[in-house]
Amino acid sequence: MEPQINDLQIESRVRELFDFTVCTNHMSSTIYQCPNDHTEELDSENPEKKPYNCPYSGSKCTLTGDIQWLLPHLRNDHHVEMHDGRSFSHRYVHHNPKHLHHATWMLTLLDCFGRQFCLYFEAFHLLKTPMYIAFIQFMGDEEEATNFSYTLEVSGNGRKLTWQGVPRSIRDSHKTVRDSQDGLIITRKSALFFSTDNNNKELKLKLSGRLWREHTH
Ligand SMILES: [Zn+2]
Repeated sequence: MEPQINDLQIESRVRELFDFTVCTNHMSSTIYQCPNDHTEELDSENPEKKPYNCPYSGSKCTLTGDIQWLLPHLRNDHHVEMHDGRSFSHRYVHHNPKHLHHATWMLTLLDCFGRQFCLYFEAFHLLKTPMYIAFIQFMGDEEEATNFSYTLEVSGNGRKLTWQGVPRSIRDSHKTVRDSQDGLIITRKSALFFSTDNNNKELKLKLSGRLWREHTH
């Protein structure tokens, strides 16, 4: 049975629970004409124009485009919400966390400094240990991504765990970042200590964070 997972604040739901998903986009070809479908031949001449893969994590989406094309695509076709501001707070809820599968919560877009970032929250197994991971990716290239830093913090019941990181470019897939463990990792056992649901039937994690731009010289 599929675990039911909600993100209360952004009313998201799990689109896809497992990594080996088939493509489930319901997109019609008329809506989904990508303006960058013909840029492949330009890649070698101008690598900066190489389109980005769609960073949506809930289902496998094979569409590509530049950032300005991807933003309305994420909003309109994947129903991803955009949040303005440098700091954010979300509550992730996992019903029946004892049965932790590979799961992906709804992606959140963060808009600050005139750029956009993707906030991911996923459940996975490291060897046989069930884990959660949260991390941020930058909607742009790796070189520019290093201009930014972020913190993620899970807290509750007098406990706090903080991660400070550098957002990875969406040139890397969210799966690549997850598998390299470049983010805030919470084991299922420790997650229960942060959960604000005392009977532990549901896992409720409060995740807050902040993004900033490093001073560039
Ligand atoms: Zn997509």
